[in-house]
Amino acid sequence: MSFDTSTLYLFATMVAGMLGAMLMFFGKQESIPALKWWGTAYLLGAASVALSTVGGSALGAPMLMALHAVGFAACGLVWNASRVFHGRKPNLPGIVIGPIAWVGAVTFVQDGAMRLTIGAAIVAIYAALTAAELWNERRRSMQKRWPTIVVPIAHGTVLMLPILLGDLLRPHDENFATSFWVTMFSVELVLYAIGTVFVIFMMVSDRAVAVHKTAATTDPLSGMLNRRGFSEACSRVIEREATAGRPVTVMIFDIDHFKSINDRFGHPAGDEILKLFATVVMTNLRISDLSGRIGGEEFAALLPCSLEEGVLVAERVREAFESSGIVCEEGPVDTTVSIGVAGGPAGTELEVLLASADTALYQAKRTGRNKVEAAEELPLSLENWRRKTAGLPASARQKPVTA
Ligand code: GH3
Ligand code: MG
Ligand code: MG
Repeated sequence: MSFDTSTLYLFATMVAGMLGAMLMFFGKQESIPALKWWGTAYLLGAASVALSTVGGSALGAPMLMALHAVGFAACGLVWNASRVFHGRKPNLPGIVIGPIAWVGAVTFVQDGAMRLTIGAAIVAIYAALTAAELWNERRRSMQKRWPTIVVPIAHGTVLMLPILLGDLLRPHDENFATSFWVTMFSVELVLYAIGTVFVIFMMVSDRAVAVHKTAATTDPLSGMLNRRGFSEACSRVIEREATAGRPVTVMIFDIDHFKSINDRFGHPAGDEILKLFATVVMTNLRISDLSGRIGGEEFAALLPCSLEEGVLVAERVREAFESSGIVCEEGPVDTTVSIGVAGGPAGTELEVLLASADTALYQAKRTGRNKVEAAEELPLSLENWRRKTAGLPASARQKPVTA
């Protein structure tokens, strides 16, 4: 079976052009600049291959050279699309260097085979840059990374083939037109054009999932984990520490008389105090500690350490918040916090620790506020706490270990 080469190329470029238009459309719709870069690359690449196929040698050498240069620029755009997708600045000189190198090769190199090698090298370099860009992106959520590397390399190679073949044998050559390889290359071009779009959408959807997941577990005001995020993260840390046989300590912070801060200075000022407290907590904890905002003016932390060490940290937070010296137009703001701390042996569940810390916090509030109270022992009855935490995710509602 043989196909007409020009028809095949036109079909391949039509598919690439349509994919380009689709990428542009989604890029605009979803406000994802990288998709617009990819879309532009596809459209330019498709236009360059289509025009040089249709025109062939009738276009004249300078025009063909310009069209091929546009094709190389499209490879550079693909590389920049992955840069933009990963939040990096586009490298504009990088885009023009390939086309310039090609014009240089056509102008100064007489040997056709040498020209082809230079052209191949340009495409290979852009493909390698694209693959490196994707490889460097080590986001945890992107587990299946190999297609993102394999496809650009293969795609880069295939994009190069029409140029190679077009220069090696003229499209109107009888043998060339019936060549089995030409058919294969054109089919490959279509498959890889589609494959790349598949990878692009895989990455975009991967990112969208990550963004939604972050939004679902983050408190927008403080930037800390919210109650759900905190519970989930705690479960993982508790499991890890239990395996290592190490103790964990939980603390609950409740800002004192926060309602009256809101009443006196206004809700926006109250929000600022909440942000300030979040900063105080985060700057006084270690990187291995977890913290989150679990309610309006309630925060919690989980530390992989003993109760005694935990109490020292809590005391440090309390002092730092008290001495933050916030002054509003209406006067100085009393920034104090009461903290309940509870520790448990390896494997003690979050729910048990939180219940215990809550009891200690209540004690701190009852005995004058602006103080740290440590739980004497783990609570035996969780009934009250269970009722209060009915809204917690299942992971935080497991049955307590027998204490
Ligand atoms: P206590 O010392 O006993 O803890 O007294 P409190 O006033 O801090 O406690 P209470 O539970 O009576 O009040 C908590 C207040 O926190 C009530 C609510 O309006 C306020 N609050 C909850 N979420 C937010 C928020 O996101 N921003 C602001 N500004 N205030 C909030
Ligand atoms: Mg409260
Ligand atoms: Mg309070």
